[in-house]
Amino acid sequence: MKICANCVLPETFPGIRFNEKGICNFCLNYQAKKERIHLQKEAYRYKFLSLLDQFRGPDKPDRLFSYDVLMAYSGGKDSSYTLKILKQNYGMKVLALTFDNGFLSSYALNNIKRVCESLGIDHLLVSPSRKLLNQAFRESAIGEIYCQKALERASSICNTCMNLVKSYMLKTAIEMSIPLMAYGWSPGQAPITSALMRWNAGMIKQTQQSIASILKKIMGDALDSFLLSDRHFKLLNLKNSIFLYNLHPLAFIDYNEEEVLEKVKELGWEEPLDTDSNSTNCLLNSLGVKIHQRRLGFHPYALEIAGLVRAGYMTREEGLAKLLKEPDDKIVEEVKRELSITSF
Ligand SMILES: [Zn+2]
Repeated sequence: MKICANCVLPETFPGIRFNEKGICNFCLNYQAKKERIHLQKEAYRYKFLSLLDQFRGPDKPDRLFSYDVLMAYSGGKDSSYTLKILKQNYGMKVLALTFDNGFLSSYALNNIKRVCESLGIDHLLVSPSRKLLNQAFRESAIGEIYCQKALERASSICNTCMNLVKSYMLKTAIEMSIPLMAYGWSPGQAPITSALMRWNAGMIKQTQQSIASILKKIMGDALDSFLLSDRHFKLLNLKNSIFLYNLHPLAFIDYNEEEVLEKVKELGWEEPLDTDSNSTNCLLNSLGVKIHQRRLGFHPYALEIAGLVRAGYMTREEGLAKLLKEPDDKIVEEVKRELSITSF
């Protein structure tokens, strides 16, 4: 299979073209925008610091919120590192929220405990009904419920899980009056332009409708416990003007995978031995990867890893090694059994 000579994207990736040197259009676009991306990183870092000044700090005794930020904490290396940055570099008051999808590695659960304890961070564990989630993951795995665009970045199972997590995060942040919601997206996972994004009621409604249109048919009314109600929109309208932001700080701070691993290990984080090469917390990911590759012909992490390679956060060889490593068949079979999937 032909693979870009500069990043790791294969010829099967949607919309890809190669020039005479075998370099893909995604790399050429990046080259053209490189300088601007560098400036954008600076701008977003500054924007974030200015926002922080608005609502925290020792000189503001009348703190408006009990927590500054709600962090989606999967227990993986990137979200553990983000947690550390928020607390130690920016001095934020963090509440970590873990969405237990039923397939968290036992290593991840231990890592979550150790990292939160070590950083002195409060932690909330949400474990929705296993039966309901399994049904949603099963239908996501065997059916075709997402458009091609959504599948360029993540497997169908991952999309479902993330949709539920994001919606639950919004709901919790509104209920608890927490002004920021943070995610540990690597710089290859999400663009710099979404690193700090302010929500408004219209955008939230649109996102909620989109989630409902995809997941209602496979989860039925049970989906409602993950979605916002009219009460949440009323609460949202009552909040003051700095409420409510999405944040993924790894997009604008220096990121290096080795350093990330080194720093989180100092907090007691241990590398899981049971997950695939692209996840440090979730066993379900192995099945997601396998189905995605078979159905779409490319790895669901190809775009993210290509982004990391292009920006110099990872070598091309390291990236290719991650993508070529097959998920552990034993784990794939275990997950299939759990989801009652006999073939795919
Ligand atoms: Zn490329």
